Amino acid sequence: MNENFSSVAVFQYSAEAQIIKGRLEAEGITVFIADNHTIDTDPLVSNAIGGVKLKVRKEDEAKAMEVLGSISKYSVDDDGVQIRCLECNSEKVELLTNVKGLKSFFFFSLSFLFTALPIYIKREYYCNVCKNKFKLQ
Ligand SMILES: [Zn+2]
Repeated sequence: MNENFSSVAVFQYSAEAQIIKGRLEAEGITVFIADNHTIDTDPLVSNAIGGVKLKVRKEDEAKAMEVLGSISKYSVDDDGVQIRCLECNSEKVELLTNVKGLKSFFFFSLSFLFTALPIYIKREYYCNVCKNKFKLQ
């Protein structure tokens, strides 16, 4: 019982952490979620304790980071559903709104703002396959 774990990602909400956990487990990586219970009980505590941490065993760290990298390249909607191109149905869609660097940590709080201010923010997406640009309602 002396295994070493690495935190590979931090999320503000456990819903997002659960989605990513599922993706990692699909790749055969065992994932542990830290602080999950506390946050679900009181979302306001999330920031204070640093969010929901996804942890993996040390030996899985490199593979986990690789999987995380491939996930964050493409866009998901507010429910964590992969966004597909309206033209060719490809999943290789990127959000053009320029939040890329912030995305993994702040994406959900930004999404909340977008939802609260739907008139002001239009999210535009770009398909890497057919080069289609499109907007979603
Ligand atoms: Zn396309």
